[in-house]
Amino acid sequence: MLNKNIETFIACDSEYSDAKIVLFGAPFDSTTSYRPGARFGSRVIRSESYGLETYSPYQNKDLTDVPTFDSGDIELCFGDSARALSDIEARAQLILKDQKIPFILGGEHLVTLGAVRAAARAHSDLRIIHFDAHADLRDDYLGCALSHACVIRRCYDILGDGKIYQFGIRSGDKSEFEWGNGRIFTQKFNFDGLRGVLRDIGIAPVYLTVDLDVFDPSVFPGTGTPEAGGVSFNMLLEAILAVCNEANIIACDVCELSPVYDQSGASAAVACKIVREMILGIGGNT
Ligand code: MN
Ligand code: MN
Repeated sequence: MLNKNIETFIACDSEYSDAKIVLFGAPFDSTTSYRPGARFGSRVIRSESYGLETYSPYQNKDLTDVPTFDSGDIELCFGDSARALSDIEARAQLILKDQKIPFILGGEHLVTLGAVRAAARAHSDLRIIHFDAHADLRDDYLGCALSHACVIRRCYDILGDGKIYQFGIRSGDKSEFEWGNGRIFTQKFNFDGLRGVLRDIGIAPVYLTVDLDVFDPSVFPGTGTPEAGGVSFNMLLEAILAVCNEANIIACDVCELSPVYDQSGASAAVACKIVREMILGIGGNT
């Protein structure tokens, strides 16, 4: 018998009804403030995932043991952020309604907002753990409130004080840091304090958003707004495994891979491995 010619992230070929995690791509980059191209991230993560093993020596788990369904990329309207966000929100809402975990492959970071809207409606006590080089706390960017530079500020508009925890931050306007003080937990440069945050969050539902530019550009050059002074692969992996093992993750995303700046393919390989470890960390818990 022949199989359908549909490419999934490696080993994410379970039936929807059996799946605990449901992947979908949000190939959108209309608000990228510097170098565009993240719209091609999700498809490259899928195709390059075949360079990985399904087994993780880090977690002693295998993707074939975590039922995951890859529902492909959504077709999004470039140039109309509100429309794109409502389409992302609808897909995430459908997956959450079916008691499954949406896992979004970006795309630029604004796509997170669509999924967070759906997650916050499903879970009133939602928290966000945010790994990024950038604070993303601007109220607007060049007059636009729906920009990847504002995505966490828009999430704050939904969740309010004390619900958002960001790590690795090393770039932003001075006013972003001042505004966030007392409203948002911001750990600059690294993951110090993560264990304490996880203790405070306890069993509250968590949305984990990973902007891959949290990496140092020497590890991950393939992104639209690279920022020197970032974290290593092992640092981010350790942080992700801590969150996956201890937090009640109800939705997540990985965004800002921009393959056009990734001539060696190394950034895609890093992104794929992060996605694999997140699937195993989240899906292997229950
Ligand atoms: Mn970001
Ligand atoms: Mn960023």
